[in-house]
Amino acid sequence: MEKQQFKAESRRLLDLMINSIYTHQEIFLREIISNASDAMDKLAYTALTDDRVGLNRDDFAITITRDEANRTITVSDNGIGMSKDEMIENLGTIAKSGSLSFKQEMEKQDDIDIIGQFGVGFYSAFMVASSVTVISRKYGEDTAWKWVSDGADGYTIEEAARDAAGTDIIMTLKEDAEGEDYSRFLDEYELKNLIKRYSDYIRYPIRMEVTKQRKKEDCAEGENAYEEYTEWETMNSMVPLWQRNRKDVTQEEYESFYREKFFDYSKPLCTIHTSAEGTVSFKALLYIPGKAPYDYYSKEFKAGLQLYSSGVMIMEHCEELLPEHFRFVRGIVDTQDISLNISREMLQHNRQLTIISRNIEKKIKAELKQLMEKDRQKYEQFFAAFGRQLKYSTVAEYGARKDATQDLLMFRSHKQSKLITLHEYVEAMAEGQEKIYYAAGENYDRLARLPQVETLAKRGYDVLLFTEDVDEFIPQYLFAYEEKQFCNASTEDLDLQTEEEKKELENKAEELKGFLTFVKETLGDSVKEVKLSANLGAHPVCMTPEAGMSFEMEKYMKKVNPEFAFPVGRILELNADHDAVKAMQKAMTEDPLKAKDYAMLLMYQAQLMADLPLEDPYAYTELVCKLMK
Ligand code: ADP
Ligand code: MG
Repeated sequence: MEKQQFKAESRRLLDLMINSIYTHQEIFLREIISNASDAMDKLAYTALTDDRVGLNRDDFAITITRDEANRTITVSDNGIGMSKDEMIENLGTIAKSGSLSFKQEMEKQDDIDIIGQFGVGFYSAFMVASSVTVISRKYGEDTAWKWVSDGADGYTIEEAARDAAGTDIIMTLKEDAEGEDYSRFLDEYELKNLIKRYSDYIRYPIRMEVTKQRKKEDCAEGENAYEEYTEWETMNSMVPLWQRNRKDVTQEEYESFYREKFFDYSKPLCTIHTSAEGTVSFKALLYIPGKAPYDYYSKEFKAGLQLYSSGVMIMEHCEELLPEHFRFVRGIVDTQDISLNISREMLQHNRQLTIISRNIEKKIKAELKQLMEKDRQKYEQFFAAFGRQLKYSTVAEYGARKDATQDLLMFRSHKQSKLITLHEYVEAMAEGQEKIYYAAGENYDRLARLPQVETLAKRGYDVLLFTEDVDEFIPQYLFAYEEKQFCNASTEDLDLQTEEEKKELENKAEELKGFLTFVKETLGDSVKEVKLSANLGAHPVCMTPEAGMSFEMEKYMKKVNPEFAFPVGRILELNADHDAVKAMQKAMTEDPLKAKDYAMLLMYQAQLMADLPLEDPYAYTELVCKLMK
């Protein structure tokens, strides 16, 4: 028996590795299984040129056995095996990858998707094992070799026996300690889960003996007795859907894969199956869900795509793969260009990931645009689920990323009574219309009856009706869309009159100066200003906010951050041509007390129409009753 020390730097590296590269101990199984798969790939490749191999793809398998009494897990393969020298080379030197060398040699003749390339995966076994034994027989050789190491002091190597080519990795689990449960890896159920989770798409069967129950055969009539028995079963599903050709996959397959993988019982709205070759090659299978998960807008929701490297899962929620505004997308990205052993921290700055993410973003956007154009009903369903996300992303970071989302937004059109895009609004603008008009409030019906909206509608101008909190922030960060500026119909000067009409209004105001002063004095501090308006149509009054902030924004601020909320100045606008206003004017000289009541009443009405709460509803009803008497 030969005893060999690890090289000093290897020993240090080993320590570092075991304690810091991997965040989860459980990945050791994934690493050992991946190596077994690589070993079989190598023999399969060899078989292409060497008839003596005598195995075809179906003969290869990985078996996992557990021995609770001796605390061991054994992973066996019938792959290419290792010679004595290779064991010393590949297992005795950290960061030495036999697989990488193999790949480099073969690259010339075939495209190979061997997983290993980093040369550290094997050592992850020492995170859970106090000692690892490797028995291996190289294909084409008669002797097998046994390599044993406890991780710290190097390893021994001696001759051994093995029936055929292949490798057994026997891991003796560490004893459990405070907070460290290694015994769980002996549990059948736990192993099953780990295989499913990380190694489901390894392309060779991973077989394990599992415990099952069956009805006893010799049980008496009417009696139901059960017995346990064991059976070898393949644990992994092997065929990754995303690796298959798009035209060979049915819609049902895509959908049932989605349901199983992402635990969503409803159908996905869209499936995007795509791949790219180039600086970075990858395959992706993406889904846009049909509805938002219940926790989507909460902190609980975990966004990100599943990241695989040649069929082996690296990360469950890789956020770097998706831009924030498309975080509702679920799916899988598989790339050979990212090493299995890469850590979470390194992934964050990975250039490959950035390239993939950009590519994916483009694909999703194109898909959504196409949906918007070709299947509006479906797009509306999408927008009902995730429109809010797009809106939030439009205003996030002061609109820095608005280019990615603005074309995908939809708002309710007053004129067309349905959702339209900003582009559609601009396309349909009336002759002479300069701006994109919008109004914000509680609901469509009330907004539609705002005097300003009615005035605009009369001219044939459409108004976008905003009913969500976030809506009103959007124009502020977009400034303009397709070079058309936004105009808040209920707060900004609509500026629709001709010079002549403006002059006329000015003259009228001058004429009624005494009356307007009377109304202002009557209302006192309740309003900031009383003035005449030309935008009132058939309405006697309306309430508009002082420049800057809308009443909706005031309400919103009060809700989210009362400390910063402040009341917006109110301006009472009067329609001098309306009978009610005329009546008030007449009363001013004939019965000033009544005129004051009228002024109060009209102010209350203006408040109600603007969706502003009445501070004193009782005063209002008393006033109405008084006037009725
Ligand atoms: P990597 O897989 O990235 O190459 P590992 O540390 O996981 O690095 O494995 C180191 C090397 O050991 C592999 O490249 C391979 O040459 C060899 N090896 C490990 N496991 C096996 C196995 N089951 N059969 C044959 N060779 C193996
Ligand atoms: Mg490996």
